[in-house]
Amino acid sequence: MPPKIKNQIQVVQGDITKLDCDCIVNAANRSLLGGGGVDGAIHRAAGPELLAECRTLHGCRTGEAKITRGYRLKVKYIIHTVGPIYSGTPEDAVQLADCYRNSLELAKTYDIHSIAFPAISTGVYGYPLDAATPIAVDTVADWLQSHADYDMKVIFCCFDARTKQAYQTKME
Ligand code: ADP
Repeated sequence: MPPKIKNQIQVVQGDITKLDCDCIVNAANRSLLGGGGVDGAIHRAAGPELLAECRTLHGCRTGEAKITRGYRLKVKYIIHTVGPIYSGTPEDAVQLADCYRNSLELAKTYDIHSIAFPAISTGVYGYPLDAATPIAVDTVADWLQSHADYDMKVIFCCFDARTKQAYQTKME
């Protein structure tokens, strides 16, 4: 990975709802009406106004992304994307990469310059961490490379030490 791209990416361990950047990404489900894991944590922290706005969005297809305000969070925006439920077919990787790419594209249209991603699909959706991590990192690095004129900082927010280790290993 070119040093310039590497400098635009940061790996941290922690709770994504506590971050102070322009935008965080939610690993949502197709209903966009809340769920467990990071989705539940984001809705709890952002407050009921988030659910009210999500109701107006009428769901989201797998691999696509929609945006809301951040409400009680420090971030201005939340991008909700729906990762694939791991099935072991080649479609999984395509849809997971779409989540990262479509989130970044949407962020750019909202003039977002810093964005934090959780490890999409690697929780309840069952995507093996070792397979998901290179897709996350490579897709983000490719997007940054092809948008070199746009100032974007990307944070991979890992909830646990194992996830952080996987991202750090991939970044090296
Ligand atoms: P999915 O349904 O896409 O698998 P999950 O929320 O179950 O989504 O898990 C995705 C990742 O988010 C997992 O690595 C999980 O540990 C992590 N996660 C859960 N809560 C948080 C949080 N508050 N901040 C950051 N990551 C979180």
